[in-house]
Amino acid sequence: MPKDFLKDAADAYDVVVIGSGLGGLTAANILARDGMSVLLLEQHYKLGGMATWFKRPGGHIFDISLHGFPYGMVKSCRRYWTPEIADSIVQLHGVRFDNPMFSLTTTFNRSDFTKLLITDFGIEQGTVEQFFDTVRNMNFYDDQSLTTRELFDQFFPGREDVVRLLMEPITYANGSTLEDPALTYGIVFSNFMSKGVYVFQGGTDKLIKSMEKEMRANGVDIRINCDVQKINISQGKIASVQVNGRTIRTKAVVSNANLRATIFNLIDKQHFDKQFVDEAEAVRLNNSSTQVYMALHPDDSIPRDTGDLLFCSTADRFQTDLLLSRDITSRTFSFYYPDTRPEGKGRTLIVSSTNANYEDWIGMDKVDYEASKQDLIDSTLDSLEKYVPNCRERITHVEAATPITFEHYTKHINGASFGTKFEGLAVSRALPQQIPGMYHAGSCGIIMSGWLGTINYGVIVANDVINHLSSTTSTSRAITT
Ligand SMILES: Cc1cc2nc3c(=O)[nH]c(=O)nc-3n(C[C@H](O)[C@H](O)[C@H](O)COP(=O)(O)OP(=O)(O)OC[C@H]3O[C@@H](n4cnc5c(N)ncnc54)[C@H](O)[C@@H]3O)c2cc1C
Repeated sequence: MPKDFLKDAADAYDVVVIGSGLGGLTAANILARDGMSVLLLEQHYKLGGMATWFKRPGGHIFDISLHGFPYGMVKSCRRYWTPEIADSIVQLHGVRFDNPMFSLTTTFNRSDFTKLLITDFGIEQGTVEQFFDTVRNMNFYDDQSLTTRELFDQFFPGREDVVRLLMEPITYANGSTLEDPALTYGIVFSNFMSKGVYVFQGGTDKLIKSMEKEMRANGVDIRINCDVQKINISQGKIASVQVNGRTIRTKAVVSNANLRATIFNLIDKQHFDKQFVDEAEAVRLNNSSTQVYMALHPDDSIPRDTGDLLFCSTADRFQTDLLLSRDITSRTFSFYYPDTRPEGKGRTLIVSSTNANYEDWIGMDKVDYEASKQDLIDSTLDSLEKYVPNCRERITHVEAATPITFEHYTKHINGASFGTKFEGLAVSRALPQQIPGMYHAGSCGIIMSGWLGTINYGVIVANDVINHLSSTTSTSRAITT
């Protein structure tokens, strides 16, 4: 008999959350804390979505998306999670750039960038201050037609080196390009510039386990291996979800699944009006990623001044399309020293990340796919050699992930690492107007992606659900089974 992952689950809940990425987890926690009965359904055998990790023999634990986030995570985690989670967030001090235009190390905050731009790049102080003030004051209601390229042209015309310094990390952080609206750049860049780059000490496994513990304490009914097939609508409102052969009633659904998958795979089209469907169809997915995971021999180590995050490139010029190319010239290396997991086995690990196009990886037969992964590994080791000499001999475990891997584990269409492009946000926000009680909280619109973006979006949507359910009749929140 296959295991019943819904054993003892109730027949009805106030809210069903589909997906346990950081957006889904945060929404579920806030809703349960507010006294609602919440069922969290995750199709994978593990919680966390893209915020995940995996173990390999030899005591190695690799993090997938723990490369860096802005300081805002401390406040969000303290308010919406626990003080212990917030207190484990620590700053990365060594952010390095190495490319044919410049090599430097920075703490990646406004004061250090101001100094660098003035002394190393020769920009007038007034221009630098004006640029920082402009991007810091950007908000969602601003002009959305100005592109990031136009923004840079206003302040630093002809200065590709400056654009590279300012843009390259953000392209890695949220997949945005020079052609995207400037505010998608401005909001994220300013978040980082406020205090630098932070990570969670103890690793993603510790974070997700702490979150699970907190959710259980707040009463969330958490179920893994539960792949939601359909969201049922009755009389224009949310009625139930179909999962593992059961129909579970609910008044509200928060989908943390990919926005397009939510709209086109989980809900029948007839429930949306035509204009909404057209707008949803026009939403572009963000890019995907490749990664190479490398473990040094347990007795080996690398000097701390190798850095924590290294944006390296051999491309003469900075072009966002080059960052996506199969012919990789730019990589971000994350160096994980033993203090990443102070209670761990003291391993030194390296993860190389590149943005990637799904189309470059799909449709290969198994032999070609494996050969392409091996190419990715080989070229990554070639590139790492400059920063970790003799790395081929020193690395005892290496493997690669591709857009197909990310798609497989999270069901994100095309393995999108950061959800959708900017237009996805308006569609995500419009969902409850189409179907009362139906919400989406997960990576979309560039600014609502990354660890901080999705956590904050989970908060916003949880509050929408609370308002929605309390505006319906007072008895309706407690559905009897
Ligand atoms: C390689 C890589 C590196 C990254 N690095 C960073 C970084 O350093 N810093 C940073 O801030 N961000 C980073 N990100 C982005 C960040 O990880 C994501 O934006 C964020 O974790 C996504 O959270 P989410 O809430 O959108 O949900 P996701 O993580 O996308 O999770 C969605 C969940 O829904 C589940 N699901 C989908 N469909 C169903 C269904 N039908 N039924 C049940 N469950 C379902 C999936 O299994 C998954 O668990 C990185 C991403 C990638 C891919």
